Amino acid sequence: MESGQKTDNLIVTEPQTPQDGPIQQRLLGMDLHDIEVALGDRHPRFRARQLFEAVYAKRLLDLNAATTLSPKLKEEFSTGALTEDSRYESTDGTVRYLLGMQDGKTVETVFMPERGRDTLCISSQVGCPVDCKFCLTALMGLDRNLTAGEIVGQVLHIAAKHKLDPHDRQMNIVMMGQGEPLMNLDAVLKATRILCDPNGVGMSERRITVSTSGLVQKIWELGQAPMRPKLAISLNASTEEQRVELMPITKKWHLKDLMEVCAKYPLRPWEMLTFEYVLLRGVNDSDADAKRVRKLIANLKCKVNLIAFNPGPGLPFEAPDPERVLSFQTLVRASVPCFIRKPRGLDIYAACGQLKHMTEGSGLVAIGGV
Ligand code: SAH
Ligand code: SF4
Repeated sequence: MESGQKTDNLIVTEPQTPQDGPIQQRLLGMDLHDIEVALGDRHPRFRARQLFEAVYAKRLLDLNAATTLSPKLKEEFSTGALTEDSRYESTDGTVRYLLGMQDGKTVETVFMPERGRDTLCISSQVGCPVDCKFCLTALMGLDRNLTAGEIVGQVLHIAAKHKLDPHDRQMNIVMMGQGEPLMNLDAVLKATRILCDPNGVGMSERRITVSTSGLVQKIWELGQAPMRPKLAISLNASTEEQRVELMPITKKWHLKDLMEVCAKYPLRPWEMLTFEYVLLRGVNDSDADAKRVRKLIANLKCKVNLIAFNPGPGLPFEAPDPERVLSFQTLVRASVPCFIRKPRGLDIYAACGQLKHMTEGSGLVAIGGV
């Protein structure tokens, strides 16, 4: 997103910190046209493509590693890569990163390796303004939106660190870290366009998913974007009343309207909607709930991912019994594909809904960084 741009109710300014010498322009988050504009008439035009390729195709985190760039360009520009403040490694192979940004704030990014498929869970905001009662991130409130550069920067940091090839079908991105991505839609879409540029990072839209708590108007806007990630909706309840309790945002965006915008959503031929459903013991996990969910989505081209509640300090819920989860799955499966999402990185607070800055007093030991 461009500096000073208004998104939803927020004005986001590109953070700048004082530094020695002239302020360098950060390339991450710029598309080719932005780089051309930034070069102005001080440099020949072909330099724009060189810079673009250095950050996105070669994925250099430091421009000093680029042999073809003149010292003057390296003086004027930096990649804007994120710094690794700390990381936590789970016994299941999941790694949770705290990546540092220009203004000293950190963003949470989770890497989940699996045989034949690696998933990067990236954040779209620092904290989250949506007040879901089962989610640890909600307790932070919103600090600020991330810029497109900070969203892309998470992907490139993890790709470099784990030697991932974004062209490879094995690499998937889910925008399911901290934040409500559709409250930062401009930056999310710009980051998607940059990640999917075939001359740069070269990912496919089919391997990027954005998850929302159900902002009806923004879902509609997302559907109009020519280049967009796949859509996942956090349903989490089977009735309006229950959803208002668990996700107060339902008072503004009603369940009925949410299901209607889903029904009208312009799916691409290869695409289906995903509904996520966090199961909370004794709250939304009954057979009656499962049957109501089945009815809500019966006519949609979709699948359902069930997530057993991941606990966290201050969250007043419990995980359901495994038999309950299976029973729920069996009922939903009668009408659409329904999967049980395996929790990843529970021991390092990296699982769904656990991304709050859990360090002090949590017994976690960080590796590396400052
Ligand atoms: N804000 C977006 C994306 C981030 S949350 C959204 O809400 O969709 C990613 C997923 O984690 C959502 O489906 C959310 O319902 C789920 N989640 C939140 N808290 C959870 C918890 N404590 N246990 C399990 N899943 C949780
Ligand atoms: Fe925000 Fe998603 Fe957590 Fe709700 S579940 S508070 S929208 S991160």
